[in-house]
Amino acid sequence: MTAPTARTVSPVPGPAAPVPGPAGPRLRIDLGAVAANTRLLADRAVALMAVVKADGFGHGAADVARTVLAEGATALGVTTLHEGLELRAAGIAAPVLSWLNPVDADFTAALRARLQLAVPSREHLDAVIAAAARTGRRAQLHLHIDTGMARDGAAPARWQELCRSAARAERRGLVEVVGVMSHLGCADTPGDPCTDAALTAFRAAVGTARAAGLRPRLRHLAATSATLTDPRTHFDLSRVGAGLVGIDPSGTVRLRPALTLTAPVVSVREVPAGVHVGYGHACTTTRRTHLVLLPLGYGDGLPRAANGRAEVLLQGRRCPVVGRISMDQIVVSTGDRPAAPGDTAVVFGPGDRGEPTAADWARWAGTIEHELLTGLGRRLHRTVSP
Ligand SMILES: *Cc1c(COP(=O)(O)O)cnc(C)c1O
Repeated sequence: MTAPTARTVSPVPGPAAPVPGPAGPRLRIDLGAVAANTRLLADRAVALMAVVKADGFGHGAADVARTVLAEGATALGVTTLHEGLELRAAGIAAPVLSWLNPVDADFTAALRARLQLAVPSREHLDAVIAAAARTGRRAQLHLHIDTGMARDGAAPARWQELCRSAARAERRGLVEVVGVMSHLGCADTPGDPCTDAALTAFRAAVGTARAAGLRPRLRHLAATSATLTDPRTHFDLSRVGAGLVGIDPSGTVRLRPALTLTAPVVSVREVPAGVHVGYGHACTTTRRTHLVLLPLGYGDGLPRAANGRAEVLLQGRRCPVVGRISMDQIVVSTGDRPAAPGDTAVVFGPGDRGEPTAADWARWAGTIEHELLTGLGRRLHRTVSP
């Protein structure tokens, strides 16, 4: 991805040019699955803002963005304005909203790139107003209220003041408040009363904005789970991220996972019972078995916490990962049957050929798919299929 400013240095510098060749683990991104998920979600939502934060949940933000825009999404959502600038650098012209920035973020660059900004406080509003005055560009804002998570968005006690300040800036022509947004804390549990309380608070917040003279045309509250399970939360727009890449935190529909991670067998050996495998000798063989070495580990995003539970698919069979997951390598036991160097193991995929899924890995590690997918390493060789 192109860095928007010359002095921006990514924390993990990539190679100057992509390293060609199939050797090593491969991560295949199935944009057809993203397209199918987008159609399903766009069908459920009034309008769809596709959330492509954290590099499109690890799937490649620009690739996911182009796919979802072709399938019915009308806008993109990101966390940092830097992520928004990267989308612009990739040539994406659709509306982009960025909702989490410190007050000293480069709002000038954001306005020059026509990014919309969420505003959670008076301090943020002042910084954006200053940038609007500097650039001569009217800022398109979404006022952001907390409706019961005590996380992001304005505290309810500060909301009226924020709305009135925004209305004054709107009358001066510096900003246009196009939206009011909030986020649900318990939507993954359909029927949770926490969502009823958030809905009440959100409606009241919109009322306060109108009373201050604002006319926000985009009221948005729902993310993936609420879009799938609770039409009361839909308002004018849904901000959907996880669902696009095949994660349904509400557990109510079948979406298509879009990633397949494979790794070649580097070496094989046959060992008797009583052999200790890997760091700390965490595993000791109980019988004669064949072991294979795969060249990926927690440095590539495989959670070390999946030790003792994880499996891969090799030669059509599920085989356990044995011993500790190392930074760069794992050992898999194939039992009586030897594998051969050059065979390919499926670490996870959509699950339709017997391979584990990312959801399986997340469960083995005691986490959620979101964390697994956004933590996949840059070292993996990525290929994109349409
Ligand atoms: C991440 C995020 C979303 C998307 O949530 P999903 O559950 O992944 O669809 C929506 N809104 C906000 C504010 C977010 O941070």
